[in-house]
Amino acid sequence: MEDEIIYLDYAATTPVDPRVLEAMIPYFGEKFGNPSGIYAQARAGRQALDLARATVASALGARPSEIVFTSGGTESDNTAIKGAVWAGLDHGNHIVTTAIEHHAVLHTCEWLGRFGIETTYVPVDEMGLVSPAAVQAAIRPTTVLVSVMHANNEIGTVQPLAEISEIVHARGVLLHTDAVQTAGQLAMDVDALGIDLLSLSAHKFYGPKGAGALYVRRGVAWLPAQQGGSQERSRRAGTENVAGIVGLATALRLACEAMEPERIRLRHLRDRLIGGVLTAIPHSRLNGHPERRLPNNANFSFDGADGESLLLNLDVHGVAASSGSACTAGSIDPSHVLLALGLPPDLAANSVRLTLGHGTTPVAVERVIQVLSAVVSRLRSLPGYHQSPEVST
Ligand code: PLP
Repeated sequence: MEDEIIYLDYAATTPVDPRVLEAMIPYFGEKFGNPSGIYAQARAGRQALDLARATVASALGARPSEIVFTSGGTESDNTAIKGAVWAGLDHGNHIVTTAIEHHAVLHTCEWLGRFGIETTYVPVDEMGLVSPAAVQAAIRPTTVLVSVMHANNEIGTVQPLAEISEIVHARGVLLHTDAVQTAGQLAMDVDALGIDLLSLSAHKFYGPKGAGALYVRRGVAWLPAQQGGSQERSRRAGTENVAGIVGLATALRLACEAMEPERIRLRHLRDRLIGGVLTAIPHSRLNGHPERRLPNNANFSFDGADGESLLLNLDVHGVAASSGSACTAGSIDPSHVLLALGLPPDLAANSVRLTLGHGTTPVAVERVIQVLSAVVSRLRSLPGYHQSPEVST
């Protein structure tokens, strides 16, 4: 056990499930044909795409024609937002989103600012929840799109989407959600949640990297970002990544089949991890909502232990963790999500995200509690550590 690597960064990415890989392999070999062709190998690819589309649609409570395959979460977020804004230009130039979105959403809105699109960033409370009333207050007569993530990738807080959707639709505005962290983990129904556009990404649920999907509700005003061939009913030009799409659909089907028992198992392990860490390590805090959080997410801040040293020391002890979203790993800036919760910048920089998955065992959780506790004590024993007044006892 001592020498085994304990991977606790499942929110960054997951390994491809061997059953998913097996389903993908024929599309690199004997079924390699371009699905736009009219011969046998092409038909095999086209049939695989049809089946994958039906599978993804059924996982979301959608129609197959409403699914557009993409290269992942970033592309889905980009095209959802840009496509809705372009289609709504006659009506308005305003987006509402939240302060804790992934950069795939935040940087897209920021970029659109160069072309006269305005964005309001709704704040969150200290647990990372978006208030439907705050969304309501941010909507203007010129608002064309509201984008609120289903659950946050750093702190795991799950948003009240159905309530937000009622407000957004009452104002005649479209609602997009980044469901990259929830697809495959939480049951999802686009009608029950009242979603018009939804992004997901295969590598977050044991599928391959570089494969994603965008749900676009029938009748919604949305324009494609990519022009060329007529693939994906002219909504996403370019030869389809058939093997990747087969992998995405297989992974989503498997995740949905095992969802309930896996959710219960992970929640139990997560709660033990949270309880164990908060008890074993004084002056530690859990970031995010205690109940409305992803079953696999734990995010902590430790007074006097900087995030980078924490991660490096955990790595030395064979624990793979992260300080926030995969895309900001390596940067030393405190996370925009933790700052939005109101954490002071130095405490926000002293944080670690542990995300659980298929390979996480009760033994691993106990080991991580021990290792983390030892690492934090060691960092606090270094010269220069003074307990900060607000958390000292
Ligand atoms: N949105 C969220 C919430 C994410 O966590 C991520 C990845 O970390 C993305 C979008 C980007 O997805 P992808 O890596 O598939 O581009």
